Amino acid sequence: MASTATAASGFAHIPHPAPRPVEERRAVLANPGFGTVFTDHMVAIDYDGDRGWHSARVEPYGPIALDPAAAVLHYAQEIFEGLKAYRFDDGGIALFRPAANAARFNASARRLAMPELPEALFVEAVRQQVLADRDWFPTVAGGSLYLRPFMFASEAFLGVRPARAYRFLVIASPAGNYFKSGAPAVSIWVSDYTRAAPGGTGAAKCGGNYAASLVPTAEAFARGHDQVLFLDAAEHRWIEELGGMNLFFVMADGSLVTPPLAGTILPGITRDSVIALAREAGLTVREERYALDQWRADAQSGQVLETFACGTAAVVTPVGSVADRDGAFTIGSGGPGQVTQHLRQRLVAIQRGEVPDPHGWVHRLT
Ligand SMILES: *Cc1c(COP(=O)(O)O)cnc(C)c1O
Repeated sequence: MASTATAASGFAHIPHPAPRPVEERRAVLANPGFGTVFTDHMVAIDYDGDRGWHSARVEPYGPIALDPAAAVLHYAQEIFEGLKAYRFDDGGIALFRPAANAARFNASARRLAMPELPEALFVEAVRQQVLADRDWFPTVAGGSLYLRPFMFASEAFLGVRPARAYRFLVIASPAGNYFKSGAPAVSIWVSDYTRAAPGGTGAAKCGGNYAASLVPTAEAFARGHDQVLFLDAAEHRWIEELGGMNLFFVMADGSLVTPPLAGTILPGITRDSVIALAREAGLTVREERYALDQWRADAQSGQVLETFACGTAAVVTPVGSVADRDGAFTIGSGGPGQVTQHLRQRLVAIQRGEVPDPHGWVHRLT
C-alpha cells in the first residue's frame, strides 16, 4: 500500500482508508458506554520462532484471518491486559502505570508458555495505538480510552505443546464513566464454583479464567446480583476476589484488609495503587486471609465498616450487600463509605492529572 510508511519507532503505519465519519464518531464519544465500539485503528505485531517479534504496525481496525487450526481456538493459549488513556484538562494524553501492565503481561505469558514481549515494545505499542486514534477520547466527564492489548497462539497445529507463532494486538474502545454520579454500591453473590486453584492460572490474566467464570457470573445475574465472589478452591472458606476485581475491607480499627497474592488471585494494578494510597492516608494495610464467615460476623458486629472492589474498568466500587446459599448480609449502611470514597477520589484525581502524582504513576504521551 502506497501510504505505508515505517516511522523511526519501527511501526509501519497503514491508515484506515475509510475512518468512521466525524458525525458518527461524535455521537459515540458523547455516549460511549463500555466495550462496544472500537476506534479506527489497531496495533499488530507478529511472532515466530525464527524471527522473534516482527512486522510491528498500526493498521485499520477490522476482522483478522485465522487458520481454523490456530492453537488459540482449541487450547485457549491467550492472555490480555486492560488499561486506560486519559485526556487531561491541558489537552495532554496520559496512561496510568503502563509499565506495570507490561510486566504483568509477561508474567501471564510465562504461565501460558507464550513468548514475552519486551516491556518497552508493549508500552510503545500502546502509545502508537493511542496516538493513532487520539480523536477518539470521549467528550463526557469521566471518560477515557480503554486499551486492550492481547496475545494469542496463531500457529495452525493441533498437537498439544506451546505454539510457535503468535500475534499481539492492541485495540481501543472509548469508555464512559462507569458510574455517572459517584459509585453506587453493588450486590454480590458468593459462588459455589471455583475460579482458581493453587498451581493453576489464577494469577495470570488469561481468557480461560474468564471462560470458567461465565457460568457463575450468569448465576449471580440470574439471582439479581451485580457481581460474583469466589472463595478459595481448597477449603471454600477464604475470600479471594470477584470475577474481575480485587477486594478490600475497611475495618473499624482503621486498618484495611485485602487477600494476599498467593498465586490464585490476579495482582491488580488498581489493588497495588490503592494499597499505596491507603498507607499514605495513614491506614494500616494488612494483606492477609479473610474468611467469609468472619466477614459476615464482622459486618453484623460493626467490625467491618466498608467493603470495596477495585479494577481498571470501574476503578473503586463499594460493595453494599453479600449473599450466598445461607442468606444475605449488608455492609455498613449498604452504600458507599467514607474511606472507599476518599480512596476512589484520590486515585481518579491522580489518573486524570488533577493533582500532583507523587508516585510517578502517570505516563504522559503528549
Ligand atoms: C484485570 C483483573 C483485575 C484487576 O486488575 P487491574 O490491574 O486493577 O485492572 C482483578 N481480577 C481479575 C481476575 C482481573 O482479570
